[in-house]
Amino acid sequence: MKKNDIIRLQIVDMTSDGSGVGRADDGTVVFVPDTALNDVCDVRILKVKKNLSFGKIENIITPSADRVDPVCPVSTRCGGCVYRHLHYSAELRVKQKKVYDAVVIIGKVDGGKVKEIIGADDRTDRYRNKAQIPVSLNKNGEVELGFYSRHSHRIAPCDDCLLSPLIFTQLSAMFKDFLSKYPYLVYDEENHSGKIRHLYLRIGESTGEVMLCVVVNGKSFDHQDEFFSSIKEEFPQVKSAVINVNTAKTNVILGEKNIVVYGKESITDILCDLKFELSPLAFYQVNRVQAQRLYEKAREYAQLTGDEVLIDLYCGTGTIGLSMAKDCKELIGVEIIDKAIENAKKNADNNNINNASFICGDATVAADKLKKEGIKPDVVVVDPPRKGLTEELIHTIVQMKPERVVYVSCDPATLARDLKLFEELNYSVKEITPVDLFPRTAHVESVVMMSKKPSP
Ligand code: SAH
Repeated sequence: MKKNDIIRLQIVDMTSDGSGVGRADDGTVVFVPDTALNDVCDVRILKVKKNLSFGKIENIITPSADRVDPVCPVSTRCGGCVYRHLHYSAELRVKQKKVYDAVVIIGKVDGGKVKEIIGADDRTDRYRNKAQIPVSLNKNGEVELGFYSRHSHRIAPCDDCLLSPLIFTQLSAMFKDFLSKYPYLVYDEENHSGKIRHLYLRIGESTGEVMLCVVVNGKSFDHQDEFFSSIKEEFPQVKSAVINVNTAKTNVILGEKNIVVYGKESITDILCDLKFELSPLAFYQVNRVQAQRLYEKAREYAQLTGDEVLIDLYCGTGTIGLSMAKDCKELIGVEIIDKAIENAKKNADNNNINNASFICGDATVAADKLKKEGIKPDVVVVDPPRKGLTEELIHTIVQMKPERVVYVSCDPATLARDLKLFEELNYSVKEITPVDLFPRTAHVESVVMMSKKPSP
């Protein structure tokens, strides 16, 4: 097999990043994005490696029954959605299987413990409460807003992202009109010249408050009064207009400093009946409704009665722990970003929660310190980033002997690895529930209940 060959292929599996998988006649495994299980297609080979290749659809011969019209005109170019061409029920099956395969095959968990995925019902579009939209000039010098293409830093132009609320589409349109009048303002990554890098939008869904933040290579930009006055006039729901200063030569989107142009410093949202302040840099789940379902499941798994000491590791701005605070005696949150800890403390205050304390530090180090101080948690919740937990942290948690451990995970592979170690250290997995927080994208979350095995 060589580059540009066209071969006929049946798709027999899906990878965890949403690509279809087929097997060529010579046994080579071929990965083809934008395909669906049981598609038969002619595939152009793009890249050949030892025993595996990558291709793209040239022609669909027999379409899978899972296929729907992707609707979005940029779905095959944009890096956001990988399942837009699948019926949502088929997407959920793929995600369920991704979690099942990881925890059963790698984690050696009994398959009966994996419960049915909590899907997003019919709310698979316009669920995001945050968008970071890069701005650039195309080769004709025209202003483009969009999202990064798969595996690249090129912008796939997109005026109406189906994952974002309509107000974001309207604000982006106005921003684009403004920049089209003054295209010289657009930031150029290569030369580090120009001013405007990103439009960053947030909405507090339950309050309707919107934050509009312009990420600027500097502290201001020409004609900003013209822009912000028209926003103020036409979009009263924008309660916070901010310039985020990012003068660094980097592809990190946000800088550290924010200048409020008008309105408030942050907007408010309500999650699990609690008020949360969203400042520009604060972490907040992008799908509020599904995050609530995830947190509710985590709370169910924690089985709190009011007497417990609860440790919430990787707590961010405190959301998971605070949603359980009234059901336990004491809450201790741990998080590495100091700004998030500040937010978490403020969130506790704003909700009159007095039994919570928050520690800024690395989870592995802080947990070891808490253990040495003699803290004996009844329940430990963990919600680590994709790389999962350190072995050392798992040992520390086990040595603190909590009755239950609730593991919230955004990566089934590292979850499976970690569950295996917990099992070896005398904790048994009771139940796993996958939750779809990010419909149409490749991501899937899971929440797991583990409990201490009875001593012999
Ligand atoms: N539980 C929160 C945040 C989860 S995201 C929520 O549901 O909103 C994971 C969090 O872990 C992030 O806030 C990140 O800053 C934090 N984090 C990453 N590495 C860490 C480490 N080594 N120690 C402690 N926290 C860490």
